[in-house]
Amino acid sequence: MKKRIFLGLRNCRIEGALKILLFFGLAVIAGIFSAEGVFGKSNVEKEKKIVVLDPGHGGADIGAKGQDGAVEKTIALTIARMLLTELESRYRVILTRADDLEVDSADRTAKANTEKADLFISIHTSASFLREASGVEVFVFETPPGQMPAKEEKKIKTWDRVQITHKKESREFAEALLNSIAMTGTEVRLHSAPLVVLEGADMPAVLLEIGQLTNPLDEKKLRDTVELTVIAKAIATAVLEFLK
Ligand SMILES: [Zn+2]
Repeated sequence: MKKRIFLGLRNCRIEGALKILLFFGLAVIAGIFSAEGVFGKSNVEKEKKIVVLDPGHGGADIGAKGQDGAVEKTIALTIARMLLTELESRYRVILTRADDLEVDSADRTAKANTEKADLFISIHTSASFLREASGVEVFVFETPPGQMPAKEEKKIKTWDRVQITHKKESREFAEALLNSIAMTGTEVRLHSAPLVVLEGADMPAVLLEIGQLTNPLDEKKLRDTVELTVIAKAIATAVLEFLK
């Protein structure tokens, strides 16, 4: 009886040792596959800089609408997808919405912050009271007057208006965009405004308003895939210049 108990214990120990070996064996195999990107992101993928593209509006929120029926939410998504194609070989590109969905402003920047993105680009089209208004507007964030004294800027700990701490780089990227888009012959202007979608972005961030849907000529361009590709390529050039 004693001997049987002893043998039982020994079998138990052997079984335990085998389980440990099996565990480590599986861990090593998983490690190898993970390093090659089978189960997880490969090291190369992890090292890629992250660009978050934010197609404005979506779902019931259609944004601006042109005379001929062009809709801002659709154009923004089309340009974002074009940019994804242009950039995805060099960067990890994340879209805040990949479909026709309504997304809250705060969730858009929260996604970029959680992913620790290197760049945030919000994509919109514009609508103006002036029918002749045309071209691309580049916006960077600016604090509403009197809300945040300059000396307080460095003390910001939360995402609340954290964009202020990236003011310099955001403007640098905006300048790269101005140069690159101007090369296509498109009129381009820089503005600063207290935009909600930019204020919580904890990385360089801009908002683009591509074309004026109230201008019939701009609307025609915004419905033309070739014209949109030219703009998408110009934005991609600025991204490459800024993140090099
Ligand atoms: Zn918009």
